[in-house]
Amino acid sequence: MKLIDNLYHYIWSGQDNNCNSYLFANVLENGGHLLIDPGHIKTPHRGEAALERLLRSIQDDGLDPTLIGLILLTHCHPDHCESAFALRRELGALVAIHESEAAYIKSMGGEVDLYLKEGDLRLGFEESLDLRIFHSPGHSPGHVTIYYPGKKVLIAGDLVFYRSTGRTDLPGGSPEQMKESIEQLSKLDVEYLLCGHPYGHPGVIKGKEEIKANFAVVGSMF
Ligand SMILES: [Zn+2]
Repeated sequence: MKLIDNLYHYIWSGQDNNCNSYLFANVLENGGHLLIDPGHIKTPHRGEAALERLLRSIQDDGLDPTLIGLILLTHCHPDHCESAFALRRELGALVAIHESEAAYIKSMGGEVDLYLKEGDLRLGFEESLDLRIFHSPGHSPGHVTIYYPGKKVLIAGDLVFYRSTGRTDLPGGSPEQMKESIEQLSKLDVEYLLCGHPYGHPGVIKGKEEIKANFAVVGSMF
């Protein structure tokens, strides 16, 4: 579903755990799409066809899913990245993730084409899409968040949710780093906070004041 301009959100609505996905349409040089966190292929418990649903939803928005050309992964957990391997294989989409997550991806049989580092990322087709990547560890060592200053959008992965944060007890997690990452991101000017899961809320938090209040609540948990 369209959020603003060429930015679409796909809120997971199944019963098993899976992530929310976000897509910038027609932003690559060849007119292709940028997809963030495509999620599971099939969910592990009930076998819900998560990737199939995602691709159908993209098509329902009038977009051609075969034009997915680049996949950014906020981190390496299978509920965010499993479908990236299939889309890489089937569509030739490039997969990008922080270097510290790559070993885990490879241990799952996945491949990485590009490494993300903290800094500016410019994608271009007619008009450029200027993003800023933040290295935001805490949930995992190479977790990144993606900021789109043009529209004040922050794609937060599993760092923060509505009134909660990602787990810090998984391998490579760290409450201290989580606290620092939350502090850093809470200073950004954000109108749309796009979370990695629909935990108790769809995970698309709108409005500067609401987002500030959310950062205040989750910041006080550490
Ligand atoms: Zn995760």
